[in-house]
Amino acid sequence: MDPVRKRRVATVWLGGCSGCHMSFLDMDERLLDLAASMELVYSPIADVKVFPEKVDVALVEGAVCNEEHVQTAWAVRRRSKLVVAFGDCAVTGNVTAIRNALGTALPVLDRAYRDPLDLQPQLPGEPGIVPPLLDRVLPLHQVIPVDAWLPGCPPHADLIHSVLVDLLAGRPPDLSGRLRYG
Ligand code: SF4
Repeated sequence: MDPVRKRRVATVWLGGCSGCHMSFLDMDERLLDLAASMELVYSPIADVKVFPEKVDVALVEGAVCNEEHVQTAWAVRRRSKLVVAFGDCAVTGNVTAIRNALGTALPVLDRAYRDPLDLQPQLPGEPGIVPPLLDRVLPLHQVIPVDAWLPGCPPHADLIHSVLVDLLAGRPPDLSGRLRYG
């Protein structure tokens, strides 16, 4: 990478609780230091509607739960040099994948979207109020190639900072002795 140019960084929110993004914000004043070497070009904490081209590092929070997530994940992959599975849900499925024990997405739709609102059942292929759910929640690497994994629920701000500093400097992140799930 060009050593002078500011790195273009994106953060993406798929099927997660946003806790990983809260931990990102917990870097506090270190975000100001990072701003000297990076530009946040896409994030749920920035009002940008379309994932941009030529992203250097993309942190992806959350598991892949629906067809919209699949499309987003591929757009991120095509437009980013490095994609990081950000947090346990992206790395393993974690909390988001608990519904896999139910076998299909139908019980989730019934409980969360139909029963409380007394909605008519949504038939397969019918336009609905939520993007079509995948029958199984998937970790990010089962949908797109991933370059690095940053586990934790959420990952600690110190670890996020350390990994970002390494990636922005063009180094592989050193997670030896610091890998922690949960
Ligand atoms: S890894 Fe934990 S904090 Fe991050 S999105 Fe999943 S449940 Fe939330």
